[in-house]
Amino acid sequence: MNKTAESVWNNCLAFIEDNITSQAYKTWFEPIKAVKLADSALSIQVPSKFFYEWLEEHYVKILKVALTKELGPKAKLVYIIRMENTYGNKQPFTEKIPSSNRSNMQSQEVDVPVKNKSPELKNPFVIPGIRNVKIESQLNPNYNFENFLEGDSNRLARSAGLAVANKPGGTSFNPLLIFGGVGLGKTHLAHAIGVDIKDKYPEKTVLYISAEKFTQQYIESVRKNNRNDFIHFYQIIDVLIVDDIQLFSGKAGTQDVFFHVFNHLHQNGKQVILTSDKAPVDMIDIEQRLLSRFKWGLSAELNHPDYDTRVAIIENKLYRDGVEMPGEIIEFLANNIKTNIRELEGAIISLIAHSSFNKKEITIELARKIVENYVKHTKREVSIDYIQKVVSDYFQMDVDTLQSKTRKRHIVQARQLAMFFAKKYTKASLASIGSQIGQRDHATVLHACKTVDNLSSTDKQFRKYVEDLSKKLTL
Ligand code: ADP
Ligand code: MG
Repeated sequence: MNKTAESVWNNCLAFIEDNITSQAYKTWFEPIKAVKLADSALSIQVPSKFFYEWLEEHYVKILKVALTKELGPKAKLVYIIRMENTYGNKQPFTEKIPSSNRSNMQSQEVDVPVKNKSPELKNPFVIPGIRNVKIESQLNPNYNFENFLEGDSNRLARSAGLAVANKPGGTSFNPLLIFGGVGLGKTHLAHAIGVDIKDKYPEKTVLYISAEKFTQQYIESVRKNNRNDFIHFYQIIDVLIVDDIQLFSGKAGTQDVFFHVFNHLHQNGKQVILTSDKAPVDMIDIEQRLLSRFKWGLSAELNHPDYDTRVAIIENKLYRDGVEMPGEIIEFLANNIKTNIRELEGAIISLIAHSSFNKKEITIELARKIVENYVKHTKREVSIDYIQKVVSDYFQMDVDTLQSKTRKRHIVQARQLAMFFAKKYTKASLASIGSQIGQRDHATVLHACKTVDNLSSTDKQFRKYVEDLSKKLTL
């Protein structure tokens, strides 16, 4: 019996074809070529890294069964990946040898792409002309675990963060995505993980970067024609922390480059930590392939801190600043600023400043004044009801009509505008916007937001609607 790569693979294919849908078979198995058989290792060529990852994620079990049937218990599968164009084309092939008996389908031990010689690394953090190989972590040592107080609102995220810090790249929390509203501690926690890793593993390269800065660097790299250097720089990081990834939305080029960086790091067992002000399902204009990767690891939410946590945070802050404050004032602050820890801290700081500048005692009156200022300045969120009212008035219809099931074009447009503004001006999730504007689902809201975006860039009259309504709503 003379087995060849082709004969073995054809038998595998026959088995696989019987066991999955024909659509899936066509998409994921027909493009594969068997190229080599050595001992019990079959090498197959797949068209892209993504392809390889997809197979590993969804079909590793059936592949293993098929291959074991053909080649016995020692069967091994070797993927040969045709590099994606964007990777540069000096070296067209990469070999990856995942063990055939992995339990975890997400590859961790895949080897590094074979390169002829490693290209010179250009560090985007360094001003051109000044040579510096050492990568500064850009971490803020004041944002550490010790002063990130624990409460029900952050317990999951905090302990996941600690687990990641103990074993970067070695837990299933990869990527770790921390999400939550403004001022709830995302940036603090992300730094804390990095600081702790640097402490425990000084040899590891840790890098904190805001999504905004990453985007700027990327644009700069394209302008200077060194996109590949940019990618290579990020690919040598051991722990990459990207803050506020919702800012990638709508930026296809940045998403693409981040996708490559992410895959490379993830495949090599490097840790990725991300933060976002939205849950993955609520992210708009982020490519599906990227979103699905965000969901590979753990998404942990930071919620509004409960009363006890707020008190603990205030007391901790006062203690660190060496300031004393009567208990009733602490309670007053904790009772009145509930949804944003940054505001809570801001109120404490200005309270202390007022009292020391004016040599006044910190009284409840002073506290009330300051909180009033704070709450007035920051609590200007418009409600979804208000948005529906303004949009209906503008188009001279009533809110019931706006919410109705009708498909009349001008009503549909008004409804889509209301959804668009609800997304823009409130913190409500897509699902909750949908349920408040005529019982629609989150996909409808997403579609509405996209339609408004499109129409306002192509239709002059429509753009006028958007501008008028924006003015009315932000007045
Ligand atoms: P976000 O990035 O979510 O907008 P930040 O991480 O900037 O929020 O946090 C806002 C402020 O609140 C920071 O000064 C941070 O130190 C503080 N903070 C947030 N969460 C906690 C916490 N659990 N314990 C102590 N301070 C906190
Ligand atoms: Mg932040």
